Amino acid sequence: MPSNIKSLINDLVIANRILANEDVVDAYGHVSVRHPDDPTRFFLARSLAPEFITAADIMEFTLDGEPVKKGGPAPYLERFIHGGILESRPDVVAVVHAHAEDILPFGLTDGTPLRPVIHSGSFIGANVPTWDIQDNFGDTNLLVTNVAQGQDLAKTLGDNNVALMRGHGFAAAARSLIEVVRMSVYLPRNARALYRARQLGGEVKYLHQGEIDARNRGYSPYSVETWRAWHYWANKAGVGDMVTRPDAPTAVSKKGAKIAKTKAKPAKKAKPAVKAKAKAKGKKK
Ligand SMILES: [Zn+2]
Repeated sequence: MPSNIKSLINDLVIANRILANEDVVDAYGHVSVRHPDDPTRFFLARSLAPEFITAADIMEFTLDGEPVKKGGPAPYLERFIHGGILESRPDVVAVVHAHAEDILPFGLTDGTPLRPVIHSGSFIGANVPTWDIQDNFGDTNLLVTNVAQGQDLAKTLGDNNVALMRGHGFAAAARSLIEVVRMSVYLPRNARALYRARQLGGEVKYLHQGEIDARNRGYSPYSVETWRAWHYWANKAGVGDMVTRPDAPTAVSKKGAKIAKTKAKPAKKAKPAVKAKAKAKGKKK
């Protein structure tokens, strides 16, 4: 396995553990990442709770949700969420689907739109649409279990970063694993702050578009600030010793102070093509 794929799968395992530890996912929910050399494929774990996932559990899929290797372990039923979004959004590299409880009320009523109200919530973007599976598929078990449903969800997501799924959860899409994890951790936090502000009464002050833009301008996936959160969450989740920076040749130890003795593979610079696309997209907005 090429070293860049190995390091990407390592990051995917870390992402699973962080999302589990931060209560974004529980027994259900998942995170995927696009294959760096083949945009028509992606990596996603087998059907297993994210907190147990290791590199051996990661499977490769085509965008229609078919496992590349036949006869393997059972995949997630809702893998079509990932295929649908990755197919419709060439700029997206990583996708999270989860059922985080704090966001659910916002998909059930149009009384209060879920939009950024706190600085760390800015990354969810100004508009968070709600997808209702009932609209085009009638009465279902609410799970996204085929290509058509995955594509329909992706259509509602559009160019946004997050879509709520009525009575079910959310889907988040981003340019990197770090970014999608960060967004998925801060989305429920933003929802909690908004929910509580509503209880206090008065008019809710959402972030201004200019504030959201200013936050985005300051973002870089491997900046010291972004890295600090990734490292912190990984350490808290018990996988701090797995953390490697794509632009640094050494691993960061669990304590964060010492350099790990094992020589970490200097993973190739992550996805320059995607960065360029993301920039182009930024300009468009
Ligand atoms: Zn689900």
